[in-house]
Amino acid sequence: MEILLASENAHKLEELSRILKPLGFDVVTPRQKGIDLGLVEETGDTLIENSRIKANNARKISGMPVIADDTGLIVEALGGLPGVHTARFAGENATDKENVDKLLNEMKNVPKFKRAAKFVTSICCILSDSITIEVEGECKGEIAFERSGDNGFGYDPVFICEKYGRTFANCTAEEKDSVSHRGNALRKLKDKLIKVNILNEE
Ligand code: IMP
Repeated sequence: MEILLASENAHKLEELSRILKPLGFDVVTPRQKGIDLGLVEETGDTLIENSRIKANNARKISGMPVIADDTGLIVEALGGLPGVHTARFAGENATDKENVDKLLNEMKNVPKFKRAAKFVTSICCILSDSITIEVEGECKGEIAFERSGDNGFGYDPVFICEKYGRTFANCTAEEKDSVSHRGNALRKLKDKLIKVNILNEE
């Protein structure tokens, strides 16, 4: 089954495809389908509201099965920020580099034992007019003092995941998928798909 990703983010496409392909889903982007989703304002107060906004818009325009995700980085020492503002932490059209620079700067005087953080991903998946599935996954870790590693994207070079004690940018794709916020959300999605009988259990 083809499923439309409500994003052109090549890294997200890769991560979602790696996990959903074996379940029988071909994840496609709006550009690949020649569809323009327009500019969607992420006005929600929570990650799930934002993923719902993106999914509803994509569904309305395409009529296809759609999947949308929204990710937030929750940093304890910053009172939970950047949270829903993770994509625009350093300003409206901030690049990953600018966002990470701002984070490292705000955390520069925070000692190692107070650098706890977690990633949370909300996913909204609309398969038909009567089947919408929403799930959330998280991954615990801490914020590094400097960038390390070349893999992944976004904040991966400064997020040390608890399980491996390395930044996600120093983890392989398989290692990241096995513990990441997005991987955990997608595993919950798989369980729910099995429950509504979209997937066979084998
Ligand atoms: P959004 O979900 O596309 O709105 O992304 C929110 C922000 O989190 C953006 O700055 C992304 O670069 C970042 N982000 C999303 N997923 C990941 C991830 O798996 N690792 C690191 N950064 C991420």
